[in-house]
Amino acid sequence: MAKSDSNLNRRDFIKMTGLAGMTSLAASVPLTAAETKAKESPSKDKMPLRDFGKSGVKVPILGLGGMFDITTNLIVLKKALDWGVTYWDTADCYNGGNSELGIGMFFEKFPDIRKKVFLVSKSDKTDPAGMTQLLERSLSRMKTSYIDLYFIHGLRNPDQLTPEMQAWVKKAKSAGKIKLFGFSTHSNMAGCLMGASKLGWVDGIMLAYNYRLMQEDSMKKAVEASHKAGIGLTAMKTQGGGSVRTDSDDELALAGKFMNKGFSPQQAKMKAVWQEPLISSICSQMPNVTLLSANVAAALDKTQLKTSDIQLLQHYAEKTCSHYCAGCRENCESALPEMPVIADIMRYMMYYRSYGNLELAREKYAEIPGEIRVTLAHQNWVKAEKACPRQVPIGLIVHEALKTLA
Ligand code: SF4
Repeated sequence: MAKSDSNLNRRDFIKMTGLAGMTSLAASVPLTAAETKAKESPSKDKMPLRDFGKSGVKVPILGLGGMFDITTNLIVLKKALDWGVTYWDTADCYNGGNSELGIGMFFEKFPDIRKKVFLVSKSDKTDPAGMTQLLERSLSRMKTSYIDLYFIHGLRNPDQLTPEMQAWVKKAKSAGKIKLFGFSTHSNMAGCLMGASKLGWVDGIMLAYNYRLMQEDSMKKAVEASHKAGIGLTAMKTQGGGSVRTDSDDELALAGKFMNKGFSPQQAKMKAVWQEPLISSICSQMPNVTLLSANVAAALDKTQLKTSDIQLLQHYAEKTCSHYCAGCRENCESALPEMPVIADIMRYMMYYRSYGNLELAREKYAEIPGEIRVTLAHQNWVKAEKACPRQVPIGLIVHEALKTLA
């Protein structure tokens, strides 16, 4: 890059990355239309901020998802900081702890940076003793005395938000170890959001949210209720990627149509989420500078999607409905209670198919209890498939998982 990083502007970003780089499909698409959209003066472009619920904190509309080995990738943190991506999301379990350890290396090297970052981490335990243990480990790994937003990782049911947890949160806040508390969720999301909105002690939620899910009434109501309750909302999985191949004719047609309008499809999908004012930020997995710069370009570009663009995404969502698992596990797993891992397997295949992260998909798959894993090959999936409102081909995807992840 010829210019200093801090002066890198929207045009530079778009030119450099073409807003692509997320998938092999995007990489094959010409990008001149997106580039021509960058017309403003470089120095005026700043990462937009939004209120995070009623917390009094403003966060950048783009957050760095840290589900990768940051210890070998500190450059991504440096660039994120330079480009205004100061919302950093990690978890105690990401990359076997190397995500948190990498953040700790960065803070140790640049101690003044800590206060500029809105730091999020997550606990995989939900009991007070376990949460204390993991919180202390996260603080130690990240060389910090506090975490801005501490999540329970992957909440499935609002009943998990117990009075004991509430008491733990109060204590952790009083001790100055966490500033805000909440959870991430990709299963039973509407139920979790509705439940949390009635409690009064949940500050933030990270949920899977994209052009597909934002059309569903239950999600619309849940997002509205959470926002009304003052809960800050962060969207993840905004590309709506699924557990099946994405280089279909439909996907290629969508890419062509958006490129003609001046957007890449990835840019359009993020913009659709940003056009929802109740969402404070998008947390995107950006394990390299190419992806980071592509997404920063999308965040800086002020062009709004038109109604026709939204309709295009809606049409695509309807056509490819069965490609995407919405995490509504109460449907398929109630029909097949002996298989309480269907939504998980769909998600792991999404990590492989959409993120291209075979290692993560295999690592997560290996966490499925052995007694369930050995029965997957012989299971009849018809009942679960009939119960799935999106007609996801569950059996087919499980068999692909057996071939690729086992
Ligand atoms: S497979 Fe279908 S029913 Fe099961 S979680 Fe996914 S979308 Fe919902």
